[in-house]
Amino acid sequence: MANHDGNRGITRYIQANVLPSLTPSELPTWVQRQDLSEADLPYIQALLTESFADWNEQAEQFPWLAGCSIVLLHPDGTKAACKGEPDGDNRLPANWKTERIGMTAAGSALQTCRPALTRGDEHEFEAFRFFDMMAAPMFTRSSGLLCGVLVGLMPAGQAQAGELKLLQAAALHLRSCLYRRFELMLLGDHLHSTELVRREERRSTLLFEAMRKLNDHIYVEDVLSEVLGILDQVYPFCCADLFLSQDYSSMNEKVKPLAFHQQEMDLCWKAFMDGEIREEFQGTNRRIAFPLAGKQGVYGVMLLEMRGKPFDEADLRFVTMLTGVAGTAFEKAKLHEQANTLVGELRLINELTQRLNSSLKLKDTMTFATDALLDMFKADYCFILQLDSFKAQFTVIASNVPEMTTEVFAADYGFCGVMLSTKEPIILSDYHNATPVHSRIMDETISRSLLASPLIINGEVIGAVLVTHRLPNHFSYDNYKLLQVLAAHLGLAVSNATMHAEMRRMVITDNLTGLFARHYLNERIQRRQLRDGSGSLILVDIDHFKKINDTFGHQVGDVILMQVSSIVQSAIRDSDIAARWGGEELAIYLPQLGLEQTKRIAERIRRRVEEETDPKVTVSCGVSQWTTADERVSVESLFYRADMALYDAKHSGRNNVAVG
Ligand code: GH3
Ligand code: MG
Ligand code: MG
Repeated sequence: MANHDGNRGITRYIQANVLPSLTPSELPTWVQRQDLSEADLPYIQALLTESFADWNEQAEQFPWLAGCSIVLLHPDGTKAACKGEPDGDNRLPANWKTERIGMTAAGSALQTCRPALTRGDEHEFEAFRFFDMMAAPMFTRSSGLLCGVLVGLMPAGQAQAGELKLLQAAALHLRSCLYRRFELMLLGDHLHSTELVRREERRSTLLFEAMRKLNDHIYVEDVLSEVLGILDQVYPFCCADLFLSQDYSSMNEKVKPLAFHQQEMDLCWKAFMDGEIREEFQGTNRRIAFPLAGKQGVYGVMLLEMRGKPFDEADLRFVTMLTGVAGTAFEKAKLHEQANTLVGELRLINELTQRLNSSLKLKDTMTFATDALLDMFKADYCFILQLDSFKAQFTVIASNVPEMTTEVFAADYGFCGVMLSTKEPIILSDYHNATPVHSRIMDETISRSLLASPLIINGEVIGAVLVTHRLPNHFSYDNYKLLQVLAAHLGLAVSNATMHAEMRRMVITDNLTGLFARHYLNERIQRRQLRDGSGSLILVDIDHFKKINDTFGHQVGDVILMQVSSIVQSAIRDSDIAARWGGEELAIYLPQLGLEQTKRIAERIRRRVEEETDPKVTVSCGVSQWTTADERVSVESLFYRADMALYDAKHSGRNNVAVG
């Protein structure tokens, strides 16, 4: 016999909707052939009770029942149902089995399986003395086993043999009600298991489809939509949410980050940590957390809320398998995406390093790097800073914020200061609530996410790179690792460019005086002569320098030379170029300056040398000028004329200025 409790709902449904339209002959023959077996008998109490109710309903109109109390006994003697119990003191015993009914018609029918009638005065047990008792046994339809006894009780002295016949007929009627119920139950069981098989089949098909589809997807986003779509299709009444552990941002509104600090996420957190299914009840709402796991780890949790709807073992198995498949597919797609990202990153690193190495101009390369970093990290702002260890300050050498380019920060200030002392990169998800560090870069750009790395060469911090975003949680751990790789290349590029600039400076600078070297002055004049309309030259020669050397020695001579150089340097503008032309001769080129003004500058230099040098020396100056109106514009002719003027100055007594 089937499990009667398991499908009561279906039985009721059939009784209400199917059965009224079914005649017994319409029942499947296999149902009609079924019978109760001996093993079923201990469990038919409910069946007896229900069929008694059916019978009672149908037998209402029989007049003989009016004065009669009817009791239906289970074959073990317990009362299964009753009707019309006498009032007052003459109550029937609640439990017939414990009372002695052996000497009554009921006891006799139970023992002999035959109908019986006993009079009140024959009854041993006092409670029955007021009644005559009739008992009609009921038998199973094919095996003839006793399946119940219908007992009728009438006031003592009223029972007749004809009434026992009527009771027997009623017992037959009741038996047909019992079998109707039994068949109904079988049918219910059958339909229930058919429904289960059908659902199982549908789930298998869906699962198979899901496996095929999920494995086809190579993008994480598609895998997530697919699995959520399937759940929505199979369990439209449930609420499914997917929580992912990593800072994976999805377009799908049902995908959320797994927030460990939130109390209501406790269930998900547990499922995530031990990779096991976890469930809890909140009133009638059942919540189940399925871990989304692959071979390499757990990636997130699928949270299903049943909202009071049924969700059985088979459903649990189905969703477990589905999330299992989804976990593997997610992992595969993620690896695929990671491989793609890696290839992309390598390409970017390659491009960037090629570009960084192709130019030694610090400004150009860093401006290019800034653009590349903004693009790579989808960042709002980028800053590359260089450390000047002597001045103990970081200078912005490239940035996409024009107002902050060339900005200077104390070496121990802000995130650069932190990186200078720790030599470690920084990833900050939210500047607003995470850090005690003050940063003007973050404040002025109103940024909340930060990714930063020091630029390190030979273990020394030479600079820093910062990329920021206005939204919090913008950068991923992968971004952080990538910036570290790029920072190594940026560091090399900064160092190379700086070294190159230093070398160039050395090449174009005179060692002793700090003025430019002669070849550099030549180059510069040549370039200006191509561009400008005019320019002037002053040649400065120390008077009787030989004598100074002879008198004070070469070292003092050098000091004098430096003093004169520094007077020259301070007497001219930044755009003028002062160089050591040779020995104790200096040359100053003044772009686009007229002769009169040049003469005044030369005169000023002459006067200051006379006043400021110690031991005191004087200088003679030769001044020349070129304009586009000249017959021949060249560096040589400019120098030639200045030299001639200098010669004149020497010959007219030295310590004076002559114009050529
Ligand atoms: P005048 O007034 O005609 O220019 O006389 P002078 O002695 O300065 O001219 P001269 O050309 O005869 O001598 C230049 C001297 O400058 C020769 C050299 O000893 C000295 N001299 C050239 N270069 C240096 C230098 O780098 N250091 C020192 N201490 N002396 C130098
Ligand atoms: Mg000289
Ligand atoms: Mg001289």
